[in-house]
Amino acid sequence: MFDTLTESFRGAINKIRFHDDEKSLKKALEELKKALLKADVHYKAVKDLLKTVENETKAKGIGKESFLSALRQGLLEILQTSGSQGFVFASKPPTVVLMAGLQGSGKTTTTAKLASFLKTKGKKVLMAACDLQRLAAVEQLKQLSAQIEVDLYHEEESANPVQIAKNALHRANEGLYDVLLVDTAGRLAIDEALMQELKSVKEAIHPHEVFYVADSLSGQDGVRSAERFHQEMALSGVILSKFDGDSKGGVALSIAYQIGIPLRFIGSGEKIPDLDPFLPDRIVNRLMGAGDIESLAEKTSAVISEKEAKNLTKKIKKGEFNFNDFLAQMDNMKKLGSMQSILSMLPGMGSMASALKDVDLDNSREIKQIRAMVASMTPKEREDPSLLNGSRRKRIALGSGMEVADVNRVIKQFDGAAKMAKKFSGKRGMQDLMGLMN
Ligand code: GDP
Repeated sequence: MFDTLTESFRGAINKIRFHDDEKSLKKALEELKKALLKADVHYKAVKDLLKTVENETKAKGIGKESFLSALRQGLLEILQTSGSQGFVFASKPPTVVLMAGLQGSGKTTTTAKLASFLKTKGKKVLMAACDLQRLAAVEQLKQLSAQIEVDLYHEEESANPVQIAKNALHRANEGLYDVLLVDTAGRLAIDEALMQELKSVKEAIHPHEVFYVADSLSGQDGVRSAERFHQEMALSGVILSKFDGDSKGGVALSIAYQIGIPLRFIGSGEKIPDLDPFLPDRIVNRLMGAGDIESLAEKTSAVISEKEAKNLTKKIKKGEFNFNDFLAQMDNMKKLGSMQSILSMLPGMGSMASALKDVDLDNSREIKQIRAMVASMTPKEREDPSLLNGSRRKRIALGSGMEVADVNRVIKQFDGAAKMAKKFSGKRGMQDLMGLMN
């Protein structure tokens, strides 16, 4: 996600050799400057950031620690644009949200992601298909609506997005929906007709929020488009899509710095759960390579109930984690989103996340083998892996079409994982885990 920046930060920090060594600070700042410019951060933002880092580092006494904390502070200052974070509900429902953006930015996908995010918060959501420019957009939204089980308002016959938006708002009011998300038309580039259409839709429904979906890969061009949309439409927030593909990471900093619109969410994968509220301190943590345990914990809690989580922790602590629990967890993992987006939230796992981009929990060979093995076990064996003696292992190998050696290996891995989980579920658990990962 931010691999390039994170690694360059590390490189810069390592330039600082001794305490109070001005020369090495200068070298570190140079390195930082190069990295930020290469990551498409606007030069003015870079200049400001370097000033903050230099002054703060000097004030605290030059050293790796002070440099690091100054950098963290500088990044936070840029990302903490004034305005709200995450999703804000109107005092009187429905909260109406206009989704704008260029074609291909990820607007339609993001509309569905946001709908699903709000649904997990217990909200009744209606989506409206007002993108009549891109031929497949309405069909795409229909499919997404069925997939996430969120209602969709669309009109087959009408070619008038303003009227459709109005009718959708009427439906949202009548149907007592909490939120109405209106997907609008995008163009490949900004043009007058697009802006006029969007303005008319905006005037017709008076949205509480106007979200602009910006493609993280679009560099300074993307920042300029966002700026233009802001002038015309008075955006209330930006959602950065395709953050997973953004190894540069500069667009986030540039949008926040140059336009001053709050970043509200980030899209970190193609799957529906790959959307997270944009929280500046957490993003800075990720930028600095420290991961984002909190976001992961929140995501997990939306998938696993508190009771389930407690039971699981208890089992793990007692060393009773078994194959049934394992399969249940695999299914939970799938609901969390792509492997890549999960891993990128763990400290030090950012680069590994890119490597695992294509791991598919359903189709990986390992997981298939484990599923086949578990299917060949008796219920008792699933509950208690210690029952698996030699003859049982042979039977399981035969039943699952695996070699006994493979069965042995998987059971050994499973034992190892269960022991590790037990170790880390103790009081010092998270600290140990961090230590291991670093
Ligand atoms: P629209 O024209 O703006 O409505 O764009 P779409 O919603 O159709 O998205 C364009 C492409 O970007 C699709 O292939 C999406 O799957 C993909 N996409 C959207 N958001 C993300 C994201 O956060 N990460 C990744 N990797 N792909 C995304």
